[in-house]
Amino acid sequence: MPELPEVETVRKGLEKLTNNFYIESIEVLKERSIASVGGSENFINNIKKSYLCTWERRGKYLIGSLHTKEKHSKGFLVVHLRMTGQFKLIEKQIPPCNHTRVRFIEKNGKELRFIDIRNFGQMWYVPATKTIPEIVSGIKRLGPEPFSSDFNSVYLKEYLKNKTRSIKSALLDQGTVAGVGNIYADETLFDAGINPKTKSRDLKISDLKKLCNSLIKILNISIGEGGTTFSDFRDLEGINGNYGGQAWVYRRGGKNCRKCGEKILREKICGRSTHWCPICQK
Ligand SMILES: [Zn+2]
Repeated sequence: MPELPEVETVRKGLEKLTNNFYIESIEVLKERSIASVGGSENFINNIKKSYLCTWERRGKYLIGSLHTKEKHSKGFLVVHLRMTGQFKLIEKQIPPCNHTRVRFIEKNGKELRFIDIRNFGQMWYVPATKTIPEIVSGIKRLGPEPFSSDFNSVYLKEYLKNKTRSIKSALLDQGTVAGVGNIYADETLFDAGINPKTKSRDLKISDLKKLCNSLIKILNISIGEGGTTFSDFRDLEGINGNYGGQAWVYRRGGKNCRKCGEKILREKICGRSTHWCPICQK
């Protein structure tokens, strides 16, 4: 599943390739892709004849701003890629593949295509008169962005103070910190030297400081590499990232730790495969 670095890579691609993209018409091929009230009919009627301008990211959500020609706001197009959602900018008219879910078409035939094999991806139309969390309830529940000043060891200590769940499970919870999934949770805990099974409330402030620094470090490295080669992630130009080549523990169960040589362990924690080094992570 795309996590923060992959979604950030897609955001950059969208901003570069669809700045001032005029949506002449929209075709929704799968009703399920549209999550906002009123379904595809409302979605199409409100978004067509708009310009796509800037793209922002909140957690794993992509937020495109919609404008009139005179730059008045027409609201937002919000997208969650879930497991396999991806955008492609189509320059020449190529018929849509079986997995094409939504087509945003410009006058000249240029098209922003949303392709989603597993079909869990979702899109919302948010009118200019509403706030995004009013329409997209998942955004309301998100914890702070890892790169924001709200995300720090003092915040984490307070948030986790009564939580007996493992730190791995807490990191996957989008209410703790936005945008972290399995890959970056495992890599961050390795970098911080924390055993993923540690009860959240037992972590000292010094551990939590390391955790914050490690998460930011790992996310920055991965964003620099354009995301990972894991899962089916592709950016808009069909290229996947290179972070996977450098992973310390993720998907390295049974292999030797790159730091100490011990065998990397792999076990399910709260239903997700977790990888860690028993020597480096106490
Ligand atoms: Zn090790």
